[in-house]
Amino acid sequence: MLRIHTIVVTPFYQNARVLSDSETDTCVVVDPGGEVERITAYLDEQSLSVEGVFLTHAHLDHAGGIPALMKHLEERQGSRPPLYAEGEFESGMRGSISRQASMFGLPESEYPNCPEPDVILREGDTLSIGSSNGRIIHAPGHAPGHLVLFFDSLAFSHSLSPIPGQSSPERSENGPVLIAGDTLLAGSIGRCDLPGGDEAALLSSIKEKFFVLPDATRVMTGHGPDTTIAIEKKENPYVRVE
Ligand SMILES: [Zn+2]
Repeated sequence: MLRIHTIVVTPFYQNARVLSDSETDTCVVVDPGGEVERITAYLDEQSLSVEGVFLTHAHLDHAGGIPALMKHLEERQGSRPPLYAEGEFESGMRGSISRQASMFGLPESEYPNCPEPDVILREGDTLSIGSSNGRIIHAPGHAPGHLVLFFDSLAFSHSLSPIPGQSSPERSENGPVLIAGDTLLAGSIGRCDLPGGDEAALLSSIKEKFFVLPDATRVMTGHGPDTTIAIEKKENPYVRVE
């Protein structure tokens, strides 16, 4: 079973996630935007071995914690796990994390740039956690190289830590799951006014690549609550299917 634990981090309320396999206790960390000590506390508590870090896109609020997490994991596990991310389109942004921080009035020195990926992911690639195989979908618009991760059928559990020291109990479910980053949000879509943003591209990513997924797909977003493809097709004012 895939266990999906969400930790809401940073002033941006970003959903950092730990995807772990209940049989092997191995995991992949997705979008460690910051507050890395809360992420590593969970890893320790659950005795998880980190086999990779997956970055959906290189905005500060998703990538800001990667250098600190990698440093911690190197000490904890003896070697740094690979960073899985998009190659060409996101490279400039990985090199501008400090600049992005200063744009938001945050101290540049606390936000080192993000390293380049060890493994470059492309549309159609597979990212596995134990026996769960996720498919990579390239969904540009919010960021040019934005990647999402889709599991077409999954026995999974989910839990949430909204603030330090608090966690919801795990709830088990079955069905498809989309780890969506900042593409499709509950009732909204990712912003397109940052460098490289393209609203037309985002709308077609959602309509052509997400709305063909099963209606029951649970969409786990980069900010805010989960939703489903069915709900967003019906109610999302940006992409509603009339
Ligand atoms: Zn973003």
